[in-house]
Amino acid sequence: MSVKMTVPARSDLLEIYDRLVRKNGRRNWWPVKYGKYGTARADTGGFEIVAGAILVQNTTWKNAERALGNMHTAGIWGYRAVHEIPETALVETIRSSGYYNTKTKKLKAFAEVIVKEYAGSDANLFELELADLRHRLLDIYGIGEETADDIILYAAKKPSFVIDAYTRRLVDRLGWHVDGSRYSDYQRLFSSRLEPDLELWGELHAQIDGHAVRVCHKLDPLCHGCVLLDLCPTGRLNTGQ
Ligand code: SF4
Repeated sequence: MSVKMTVPARSDLLEIYDRLVRKNGRRNWWPVKYGKYGTARADTGGFEIVAGAILVQNTTWKNAERALGNMHTAGIWGYRAVHEIPETALVETIRSSGYYNTKTKKLKAFAEVIVKEYAGSDANLFELELADLRHRLLDIYGIGEETADDIILYAAKKPSFVIDAYTRRLVDRLGWHVDGSRYSDYQRLFSSRLEPDLELWGELHAQIDGHAVRVCHKLDPLCHGCVLLDLCPTGRLNTGQ
């Protein structure tokens, strides 16, 4: 049996948000553990978010976090440090994040742009208007739409809603109609209904991710105990309600 599609209203999005926050508490993403003053070699506070957004590609946050911790311990902290360190040393440091050869190249590509074009400070890059900033980020090796929007929303503090596999899964299971299947189509579902509020967009993305990791699993979602069950046609099918 297929799920009946509906066109969600702004209130539906906010209902999901409220329920998840009530259930789980605020997550206050993006988690910044070391920050600007972690070591004398740090360049800017955004570095940790940028590096984390690259390291988390195709892996769990836990693995990315371990790699970040290793970078910090090794003193490879900040764009200049990443730019200067030999590739082989960085590869060893971020091994826990998987795809470490590719991610090393991505981290170094980003660092090179900041060092060579923006005087070593991501604040200079983040000054660009949102559309120009997104365009510039997407031009950097290894930065796709999701990573770009992570960086824009959480590091540059500009409203660009982040879509990931977890968000697509939840939207599809809730039976929300999306005008197409591209990243931008899913993004528009949120950005056209919710005012560009950094805190709301950042927290909603974080809540959806947490919900997917803990409850709305790819296989065998835990629908019986889910706070969204009465709103979710997939959950009702799964539970026979
Ligand atoms: S009811 Fe099930 S499918 Fe629906 S959101 Fe909850 S866990 Fe996911």
